[in-house]
Amino acid sequence: MSFVFDLGERPSVAIHNSKDRYAVRRIYCVGRNYAEHAREMGSDPDRDPPFFFQKPADSLIFNGDDIPYPLRSENFHHEVEMVIAIGKAGSNIALENAEEHIFGYAVGNDLTRRDLQLKAREQGHPWDTSKAFDHSALIGQIYPVSEIGHIRKGEIAIKVDGDVKQKADIRDLIWNVPEIIAELSTLFALQPGDLVYTGTPAGVGALTRGQTIEGYIEGLETTINKII
Ligand code: MN
Repeated sequence: MSFVFDLGERPSVAIHNSKDRYAVRRIYCVGRNYAEHAREMGSDPDRDPPFFFQKPADSLIFNGDDIPYPLRSENFHHEVEMVIAIGKAGSNIALENAEEHIFGYAVGNDLTRRDLQLKAREQGHPWDTSKAFDHSALIGQIYPVSEIGHIRKGEIAIKVDGDVKQKADIRDLIWNVPEIIAELSTLFALQPGDLVYTGTPAGVGALTRGQTIEGYIEGLETTINKII
C-alpha cells in the first residue's frame, strides 16, 4: 500500500529492560480522581464523579525531552499522574478481572492549558484545546507487570525546580485502577496500545519557560523535563 503523505511511525513508548517498544493506539485520561485536587478545582468530590477525556497518541512526549511552552496559553500547568498501559482487549470488564488487562505502569504528566480549560468549563465547551494539544502527554518508560507486579500504593509526586509541588499516595485515588478500567471499558472497547492517565493529586500549578519538572512514582523511572 502507498500513501499520498508519509506520516512516519506510529507513536510508541520505551519499555523498561526491553528493546521492544509499546505501540500506542489511544490515550484516555481520568479527570478529577483525587479528592483534594477536585476541591482545589472548585468541585465536590462526593457529588461530582470522575469522568474521561482523550489526548491524541501523537501528543506524547518523553523523559528528557524539552517541553515547548504551548501556544495560546499563559497558564500552563503540570499534572503528575500514574499511567496504565493496557495489554489485553476487553469491553465491560469485570472489576475482579480488570488487572489482567494491564501490561504495565509509567509516570505521566497530563500537561494542561489551564486558562483554556477554565474558559471551556465556564462555557460548557469541550476540553480538547486545553488537554489534547501537541506535546501535552508526557510519559516515562513503561514498567511491565511481569517485572514489577501491580501498583496499588506508593508515593506520587512532582518537583518543579527542586520544590515538591504535588505529593500524594496512589491509594488516594477516588477510583482505583480496577475501577477505572471496569468503568472505561463500558464506554470504549479497550485494546492493547491504550494508555490511561489516572488523574492528578492536589497541588497543580503554573509552569514557566526554563523550569525543570521531575515526575516521580515509587518504583518507576523519574521523568525530568525542561520547559522551553
Ligand atoms: Mn489530569
